[in-house]
Formats: sequence, structure tokens, C-alpha cells
Amino acid sequence: MTKVNLGIIGGGQLGSLLAISAKKLNIKTTIFCDDFNAPAKNYCDNFIFGDYKDIKIIESFVNKVDIVTYEFENIPFETLNKINSKKKVFPKPEVNKIIQNRLYEKNFINELDIKTTNYKFINNKSEIIESKNLIPGLLKTCTLGYDGKGQYKLNSIKDINDLEIDFNKEYILEKFIDLKKEISVIITRFKKDNYEIYEPIENIHEDQILRTSKIPAEIDIKLKDKSKKWAVHISEKLDYIGTMCVEFFIDKKDNLYVNEIAPRVHNSGHLTINTHNISQFENHLRAVCGLEKLTTQKLFNAVMHNLIGDDILKYKDKKAKDNEFFFDYKKKDIKPKRKMGHVTKIIK
Ligand code: ADP
Ligand code: MG
Repeated sequence: MTKVNLGIIGGGQLGSLLAISAKKLNIKTTIFCDDFNAPAKNYCDNFIFGDYKDIKIIESFVNKVDIVTYEFENIPFETLNKINSKKKVFPKPEVNKIIQNRLYEKNFINELDIKTTNYKFINNKSEIIESKNLIPGLLKTCTLGYDGKGQYKLNSIKDINDLEIDFNKEYILEKFIDLKKEISVIITRFKKDNYEIYEPIENIHEDQILRTSKIPAEIDIKLKDKSKKWAVHISEKLDYIGTMCVEFFIDKKDNLYVNEIAPRVHNSGHLTINTHNISQFENHLRAVCGLEKLTTQKLFNAVMHNLIGDDILKYKDKKAKDNEFFFDYKKKDIKPKRKMGHVTKIIK
């Protein structure tokens, strides 16, 4: 049988970990990325460098592959649509169109009667002044934000005079929540009512960047069940195929809110490589390539630490302990706030 050639758009650490997982399943990978030095270059079978809007490059990518998926949400909708007219894209482009815009995403979630923080669309300064009830809050760009990029913390209305906010962009202003915990739920949907779901993962962020993820999450069983139920509902309504992640906030009164959805494998799920018989990456590949769904089972508990900036230097030459799994994303340059690798520690 000829091998399936899976096209992956984006070549960061998620693309790398997908490509590594694909090898074990005998799936060939072709990565299309706009970064010539993309980390996933080290792990894929073919690498195509080019702009995500370049018609010629898109065509040569499409001609090489059988099925297409993606590792990040900020891909032009036109590009995904164009690819989808020739080769199937999973999850489908309409999913990405909703999720890549924070306003559409939050509207969609609220239409399902699922709670999010209070928010408002913001186009100029006076609209912020009219939304005092949402301050203290966070002003977030509607598109292209990640790892806290494109976000402004407004502790009081006065802050808008000190911050240089570019009002050529569109924003949402979101009420700040007094957080008790953050969790995420990763689910892989294969088809209608047919999915594998991982237990909630507890996450700690610093400066809006994920620092640590662990299972089990130390939260009430009711919150565990509710978060999983919401994740299933969202994936069904999106008619989602593949792995996705729902990020949640829990406030001091144990209220649950959906923060955001990632239409892809997720950093908080890296520990599934070592804690489960089937990782979030393998499940994603199985779902998008139409392979068999196997029952996903937990083998261990674990904690995963992201290695951000210089953190990686401590690990590069260190011999890992038996219960430690170190991953180097092989990024060319170390930069502050850049995720350079991660280490998962199994708790037996
Ligand atoms: P990104 O797309 O950059 O991941 P998020 O909206 O998930 O953006 O924000 C990153 C982190 O910032 C969250 O995980 C959380 O720790 C903090 N944060 C974001 N919005 C809020 C909020 N409304 N209240 C409290 N903390 C928030
Ligand atoms: Mg987030």
C-alpha cells in the first residue's frame, strides 16, 4: 500500500511533534511553512518554504499531498478554502474561520449557552471608555494573537492614555477574571458522537504564556465533568475532525468559563505523549487520515514544564532521569519568551 502523504501547514513545535508521531504510523509528512528555518524541517519528509498566500507555492503543496491539516490557526481562510477545493482539509476551513477571530469565537461559544468572560468588540478609544464595566480587563486583538501577544492589560481606564494602542486593528475588551485555576480539555473527534477525550489538564501561565501543565487537575469532579461536556458539545457543533483543545478559566467561586478554543493539537497536551497509550498527536493523525480509532487510556500522571528562553540551556547537556522526557524543539535562536522545548516528568 502506498503511504498517505499528509500536508501540514505550519512548522513549529506542534508540526514537529505531529511529524514524529506520523513516522510511527507510516504516514509521510509534507510541511508548508513561511519560516525557512522552521523546526519541523528536522522531522518531516518534505519541506516547502513559502508565503501562505502564494498561489504557486500553494499549488505545488496541494499536488504533493493527499490530505491537509494545520498546526496553527492564523492561516488565511482563502488559502485553506483553495486547498480544500482540491484536497480535503481537516478540521474544515469554516472551523478555522470562526476560531481565528476572538470575536466570532466568543459569539459562537455563547450561542451554545456556554459561558465565557464578558466581552465587547472595540474599534476605538471612546468605545473603551463606554465599557467601564469591563475594566479591569484585557484588550485583545481579534486576530493573530498568541502566547499573550497582542494583549493589553487595563487596570483602570487611565491606562488607555499610557498604552500605545494601534486602533487600525480590531479588539475585544474582556473582563478580567480573578482566577483560581486554569484547565484545558483535549478531545479528538473522528465523526458524529465518536471521539476520544482526555481528562482535564491543569495549567499555570506566567506573563500569559503556558509554563506548566499537569494531570490530574486538582479540581472538583463536577467541574471535570462540566468541562468535558462543554468540549464535546463544542466539537460536535463545529463538526470537528481531529484534535482540538478547549481552554477554561475557573474563578474563585468555582464558576467555569471557556477562555478559547485551539483548532489543533495544543501545548498543554504534550504530556499525553508520555502519559497515555495514544497521544493527542497520534489521535489527530488517526482522525484526519481516516485510520482506526483506538481506545485512549491513561498510563501515568505527569507534569510538563515548558522550557522558555534560556531554560533550555540547563537541559541540553543534562542526562534525563528515568521518569523525565526532554524535547528540544531545535529552534535556531534562543529568545526571551520563546518556547524552546519541554520536559515531561512522569509521576508514578
Ligand atoms: P493566547 O491566545 O495568547 O493564549 P489567551 O486569551 O488564552 O491568549 O490569554 C493567555 C493567558 O492570559 C490566559 O491563559 C490567562 O492566564 C490570561 N488571561 C487571558 N484573559 C484573561 C481574563 N479575562 N482574565 C484573567 N486572565 C486572563
Ligand atoms: Mg490561550
